[in-house]
Amino acid sequence: MFSTTLRSSSLAAGPTLRRCLATHAPSYEKDCSSITPPYTQLIEKLERVRELLNNRPLTLAEKILYSHLNDPEKSLSGGGKIRGESYLQLTPQRVAMQDASAQMALLQFMSAGLSRCAVSTSIHCDHLIQAVDGAESDLKRSIASNQEVFDFLESAARKYGIEFWKPGSGIIHQIVLENYAAPGMLMLGTDSHTPNAGGLGLLAIGVGGADAVDAMTGTPWELKAPQVVGIHLTGKLSGWATPKDLILHLAGKLTVRGGTGRILEYFGPGVASQSCTGLATVANMGAEVGATTSTFPYTENMHAYLNATGRAPVARAADMAASTGFLSADEGAEYDEVIEINLSELEPTINGPFTPDLATPLSKFGSFVKEQGWKDELSAGLIGSCTNSSYEDMTRVAELAKQAKAAGLVTKVPFLCTPGSEQIRATMERDGVTNTLQDVGAVVLANACGPCIGQWKRDDMKGEENAILTSFNRNFKSRNDGNQLTMNFLASPTIVTAMAFSGSLSFNPMTDTLTLPSGKPFKFAPPAGQDLPTEGFTQGNTDYYPSPTPEPQPETEVIISADSQRLELLEPFQSHFGKETGNERGLELPPLKVLMRVRGKCTTDHISAAGPWLKYKGHLTNISENLRMSMRTAVNDEGGDVNVAFDHDRDAGETESDTIPGVAKRFKARGQPWTLVVDDNYGEGSAREHAALQPRFYGCAMIVARSFARIHETNLKKQGVLPLWFADKADYSRIGSGDMVETIGLADLIEGRQNAAVKLKVTKRTGEVFEIPTKHTMSEDQLKWFLAGSALNFIRSQMS
Ligand code: SF4
Repeated sequence: MFSTTLRSSSLAAGPTLRRCLATHAPSYEKDCSSITPPYTQLIEKLERVRELLNNRPLTLAEKILYSHLNDPEKSLSGGGKIRGESYLQLTPQRVAMQDASAQMALLQFMSAGLSRCAVSTSIHCDHLIQAVDGAESDLKRSIASNQEVFDFLESAARKYGIEFWKPGSGIIHQIVLENYAAPGMLMLGTDSHTPNAGGLGLLAIGVGGADAVDAMTGTPWELKAPQVVGIHLTGKLSGWATPKDLILHLAGKLTVRGGTGRILEYFGPGVASQSCTGLATVANMGAEVGATTSTFPYTENMHAYLNATGRAPVARAADMAASTGFLSADEGAEYDEVIEINLSELEPTINGPFTPDLATPLSKFGSFVKEQGWKDELSAGLIGSCTNSSYEDMTRVAELAKQAKAAGLVTKVPFLCTPGSEQIRATMERDGVTNTLQDVGAVVLANACGPCIGQWKRDDMKGEENAILTSFNRNFKSRNDGNQLTMNFLASPTIVTAMAFSGSLSFNPMTDTLTLPSGKPFKFAPPAGQDLPTEGFTQGNTDYYPSPTPEPQPETEVIISADSQRLELLEPFQSHFGKETGNERGLELPPLKVLMRVRGKCTTDHISAAGPWLKYKGHLTNISENLRMSMRTAVNDEGGDVNVAFDHDRDAGETESDTIPGVAKRFKARGQPWTLVVDDNYGEGSAREHAALQPRFYGCAMIVARSFARIHETNLKKQGVLPLWFADKADYSRIGSGDMVETIGLADLIEGRQNAAVKLKVTKRTGEVFEIPTKHTMSEDQLKWFLAGSALNFIRSQMS
């Protein structure tokens, strides 16, 4: 299948645009010199790694990670266990940022004082577009209401040589897949669904802005080597089952915690039969089980997708790399766990509400709804988002729409469609897909995140219990329309579409019929769709697109208005140590007061809500004010109330309890550093660094958890908050609000003493004193960040 000739050296030499042969579609060929991975170097580095590892067989994930090691000898020569134990210092090749998270990342990057980014970087304006009544007006309105943010991002991009994708260009992950992703590369994105790019056989990892700043400043980016779970796919999807159903099914098996600290690596004959964009859907939702990322061995469909998107030079170079074995696992490679899935046995699955791992096969969904006592009514159907807006997805649903139209049916409930990119939108329009959807009642929204991130100005169902069905990836409470009573169920675009015609939750298009106005029954036939357009993709409005690899323009002034309520330059956080802080405990933390013990699920959405607060992403003072509202769903384990914390040191005139951030603000005003005690998987969900920044801003120095979600734990470390794990989870209940906690052994850890362990001395409000053991995942470098007060403080100290 793959050419064995090395052709990457000639990639830049060809004309910028020329016709090339492609499997499915006529296409153009772009200059790919800046986006083709340096396979020769990567493969050479992997050879050094193999020697260090005694030539043991490697998984694909290991090959990609280890070939991007900054210094293989330093990371791997210890001889101990690597996966799940060692910290890897990595050099990612690319960074992509969305408009909401890019603000804080850029503010941090600016503080580092560099003149350009160390790696290719792009910004994508997608999260700030609000869906109201359709693409054109929504885009205009959202540009006007976010003008100062877009001006800031655009001017910073110009100054530092970053590719700037304007509002309307599409959703970050779809654009990355269409333009930047390449097999075997390692890239970072400041968004949890960055793994979407894994559909092209690479490792794309969602991080906080501070991690992105590492790559952008050329600082080795550190990752605890993930374990690797092998997902062995046999059989073939058929009928109504789609790649979405594979990942919905797997989410049910693994749960939202099952992928934490792990990469999901798919292998086996069931990989090659799926389209590249289908694999991207599967990789996208690996984030829902907490996986570091997901990947697949290189396939013919990936080759075809690269060709169809103008990247034949990348496809040829990948063919070469694949011929050396670089783009698949070695025979005999060992996984930490293997999960078997027979695709032939999969049926459509619906997940939710309120959690993406509550998976119910379609055939049982009707009875599930009945058992729960929910109304058998669907209030809206939404398709698209970065998860499911490929050409294949859209042509599949268009087939259903055609069948329905021919029978005289229109959708019974609002049916909203978000194309993933301008390229998809334009290709859909050219090929009649858009018209077909509109004919049956669809409203086509702007190429942006829209309702998926809460940017949905929904006027019906306010405060009412109702059910929506989406082809998105997340379904935490309130995520889409801000209504806590909206039950969001996740399904494939085809199931969402078919059910939008029935308006009922119990409708099963595989077995049930709809009644036509004539009284006759109508049954959908399963749609096939088309993975790539026969006529090739059309780029649409290229005004939205950046010029490739722009040079920095250092004379550009970055636009932040002095009275801006949405952007402010960052003030560095003070270190917890040193005389000027008043901490008399040397390298131990000052005594910390426990603000609260948080019970159960506490996602980054709970800590720092999206929706309306997205507009303060670049203004830490203001967004922290809004923390007042955003921890509204965090439950206090002492009393079970939501967003209530107790102030045991209140002054006269102050209330005994307040909101969580209300009490945090009191602590800050008193100069009282504090800690939180939290439950399992604290900080799951979006890679939202504000969920770490905001508590730190109010004086949080340490969080003690039963367990942490990976990205959030790293984000806490970046901002100078110490994450500790209970060695014995039962100790969680022994610490309560108002107790004082002191670290013992932290100084030994910071000073690098062998076998240093951190204990906590707890002084209860009753006067009782006891110690409890903890665990940590702090590496040597992370301890340096902590000592400096934040990673950024440390980076800046190294620059000066
Ligand atoms: Fe945008 Fe939703 Fe995708 Fe996030 S998950 S990038 S909000 S479309």
